[in-house]
Amino acid sequence: MSAKSGQTSEECCVAEGAGDARPPDASLSFLGAAGEVTGSAFLVQLPKARFLVDCGMFQGRASGEKNAAALDLDARRLDAVVLTHAHIDHSGLLPLIARRGFRGAIHATPATADLLEVMLPDAAHIQEWSATKREGRESRTPGPRAARGPRRIRDEDEDGAPLYTLADAQAALKRVKRLDYGVTREIAPGATVTFRNAGHILGSAIAVVDVTPGAQSRRLVFSGDLGGPGRPMLPDPEQVERSDLLVVESTYGNRLHRSLESTYDEIAALLSATLPRGNVVVPAFAVGRTQEILHVLADLSRAGRVPPLTVIVDSPLARAATEVTARHAASLERETRELAAWQASHPERMRVAFTETPADSMRINGIASGLVIVAASGMADAGRVRHHLRHNLPRAECAVMFTGFQAQGTLGRALVDGAKEVTLFHERIAVRASMHTIGGLSAHADQAGLLEWLRGFRHPPSRTFVVHGEREVSHAFAEAIRAQLAWGSVEVPERGLQVPIIAG
Ligand SMILES: [Zn+2]
Ligand SMILES: [Zn+2]
Repeated sequence: MSAKSGQTSEECCVAEGAGDARPPDASLSFLGAAGEVTGSAFLVQLPKARFLVDCGMFQGRASGEKNAAALDLDARRLDAVVLTHAHIDHSGLLPLIARRGFRGAIHATPATADLLEVMLPDAAHIQEWSATKREGRESRTPGPRAARGPRRIRDEDEDGAPLYTLADAQAALKRVKRLDYGVTREIAPGATVTFRNAGHILGSAIAVVDVTPGAQSRRLVFSGDLGGPGRPMLPDPEQVERSDLLVVESTYGNRLHRSLESTYDEIAALLSATLPRGNVVVPAFAVGRTQEILHVLADLSRAGRVPPLTVIVDSPLARAATEVTARHAASLERETRELAAWQASHPERMRVAFTETPADSMRINGIASGLVIVAASGMADAGRVRHHLRHNLPRAECAVMFTGFQAQGTLGRALVDGAKEVTLFHERIAVRASMHTIGGLSAHADQAGLLEWLRGFRHPPSRTFVVHGEREVSHAFAEAIRAQLAWGSVEVPERGLQVPIIAG
């Protein structure tokens, strides 16, 4: 059975001027992460209010044009943004709506709010740097803020102008209002939100949105990104029992992860075999994934399963995110706090060094073996990890360990798919190092984990929308929901689809 993605007569597209073309009284529109993983943004329109759930950036292929054309709506007329978590594919366009005049509140958990304070300025810096690079006037990699030198702030109309600037990121940060898990807050006339822990990264939330557009109330549940049950560091995603319209992620909706145990075996074997003669480069998102990798390495060290480790975390953003994680330790599992204490008292077993300046970063390039180098970005399409790949890819004694999702069109995906040669800094680089994909550490639930979360609903939602997955994956997961849970109305929306919140 093919997935239902047809539109009924009350549904329309919002490709242009979202919501300005006489929408139904109350509607939900899919502005991104529809048939793809990135660009999460959903618009809820009520007779007296309109707000976004997530405001994410597109990443990977053609993302520049997609981001420039994203969120075709009047930001000044938005009442609020509900933010599920800090990852850029959910938060990265907040500075853009701030630039366009958004004056509402951005509701986020306290940990997400703290993470945004390090992530949004960094995202703005990348925008400014890429814009400069597009003009060919500068070609260096972004360094830490202190070492970046003077910035050129330019007009939006100028060719290749940044999508937004540091000032826009700071304007967005001023709009953030902290909301603890489990507390219900009115966010606009006729709408409330309650966050539940999504177990995906620090601060991540499932957004339970209750709306009363007229006489009837409706519950919309947005899963955000969901962690799998039993993964390191974070609690399992909280169950939600009731929803009328459900929007659920499907990043790994068509597959099963390896068990954590075999994942640990794989990492221990890889480190033990590689480090005596080479380095292990780990492309990793600075936020969430880097802290999780440090946790797993500490766990392996404490169990005596790896040689003494020297871990270089080459990302100022990761350093800041690790500090935020330590501040919010209370929201992590007890085991995580115990392990952090063990690591602090056993530097001879695992030494972690954070680099700050580009000079620190470059010094690493002279070391031929014995290092675990963790650097952003996770998909190797930007950031300092590209320098480490340039130095280590041509060496057969080195290894690259991928631990997260690699989107189509990224360097990470090309390497995982077996490229023998890649282009880095305008140079052709031969790939002789070995490539390893470690699936079991995913921050996203696999098909079984997603279905387990869905089983927590007492009744099937009236409509379920499968988002945040490559199109074939979302369709495969929609099919799994129909087959295994016997839910009737399961759809994979196209970008631009607008559906009524109250049917009929
Ligand atoms: Zn995420
Ligand atoms: Zn995401």
